Amino acid sequence: MRTLASADIVPQRTIYDCLPAALATTLGWSYEKARTVTGTHTTEGGTFLMPLASALLSERIAGTYVMSRTHPQLPPAAMTSAWGNMLASPAEIRRLIQGHRAVIIVPGRGPRDEVGPEFGHAIAWDGQRAINCGSTGADPKPPREVSLDDVPPWEALILTSIADAAPETVTVPPDAIASDASLAALFDRHQRVFLGFSGGKDSIALAHMLEPWRDRVTLLWVNTGYMAPHMVEFVRAFGDRFDLVEIASPSLLQVWQASGVPADVAPFRNVLGQASPRLQPWLSCCLTVRQMPVNDFLRRQGPCCYINGQRADEAGGATLSGLRSNLPPSVEVALPLTDWSAADVFAYVAQHDLKLPPQYAEGYPGSIECTVCPAQAMPARMDYLAKRYPHVLPVIRACVRDVASATMGAVEHILATVEAPYPTPADTLSTFGRH
Ligand code: SF4
Repeated sequence: MRTLASADIVPQRTIYDCLPAALATTLGWSYEKARTVTGTHTTEGGTFLMPLASALLSERIAGTYVMSRTHPQLPPAAMTSAWGNMLASPAEIRRLIQGHRAVIIVPGRGPRDEVGPEFGHAIAWDGQRAINCGSTGADPKPPREVSLDDVPPWEALILTSIADAAPETVTVPPDAIASDASLAALFDRHQRVFLGFSGGKDSIALAHMLEPWRDRVTLLWVNTGYMAPHMVEFVRAFGDRFDLVEIASPSLLQVWQASGVPADVAPFRNVLGQASPRLQPWLSCCLTVRQMPVNDFLRRQGPCCYINGQRADEAGGATLSGLRSNLPPSVEVALPLTDWSAADVFAYVAQHDLKLPPQYAEGYPGSIECTVCPAQAMPARMDYLAKRYPHVLPVIRACVRDVASATMGAVEHILATVEAPYPTPADTLSTFGRH
């Protein structure tokens, strides 16, 4: 993608023409062409980005509109309706526009240099850099590059040529995603920020990133009562530096009795309680025992921000939309590490010389969570538990045997039902793509 040189910038000519100037700069058009296209969409009353998408269609440009839920003109009712969940955070908008051209609306100033929710200002985005095409109000400024960390995006119209192939992939370094500056934007909007804390590498890295705002951060840790004792001690030690709230989970045993032991694989009949033993997907166990107590806590806090260290490459983890849908709109959810890999986090930990719990050096790189959990019976974890907490192995083994016998029994029953008594005409298999 060609990035903008200063000669490509089309400066504003009047107080109100930031949109045509930004559009011309973004697309490499003349001012006059952009003015013609945006003519009906820029008035003295404001800059309207969403309807511009239809005007651009005749130019074979598709526009994808994204709005921030921090947009000051958003009616409060919007955030309590279902579509409030579809709005993005400024950080998400910054991520979405990477590698695409876009016109962005950011906070601006009025003709007499006044500020207010009605004074949005259009700027150009070339896929990597934001260009303010200048301003001609009471305090005129020349065109210049600006940082979207300083001017949080309210709206963006992402522009794609309809004839284009897929956009170029731009690798965004993790630090650009969860930079101090983007975290700073969260603290601009919220007096109180809560970090879901487990004592694992991801939450340790995030706690370190939040150090500059330490006095406004509360770590939320759910103690299930079956944590490894050294992890209880490790997590509680963070209470020396941060406000730490220890939330008691519902009783793990009662959750297992009511909904079954957590399993990685389970027949539906056992999940539905139509066959014994009762089993539950481990995700629902974690949701009930570890996430819902956090959600209940956050619901009582009023407007605040909740940061979670979930990464997108972790199997079955929480998602932004899932977390948001269980929280009121007054709680902003942020997953700053979503695009990080485990290696990125380890690199951050090493770079800042952060202390990890001892199991990381002993071959099990995780926070352990519930020591008795039968849904995480991977070799490294079992080796570690056998060494440090051997008393939990019989519980895990008994639960895994229940899961195995239910699952294998169901599979064997299905196989036995269809195999022996019936002939299998070979030529019908290929019809169903089976061999
Ligand atoms: S770690 Fe295992 S036992 Fe603990 S809450 Fe999650 S699924 Fe349930």
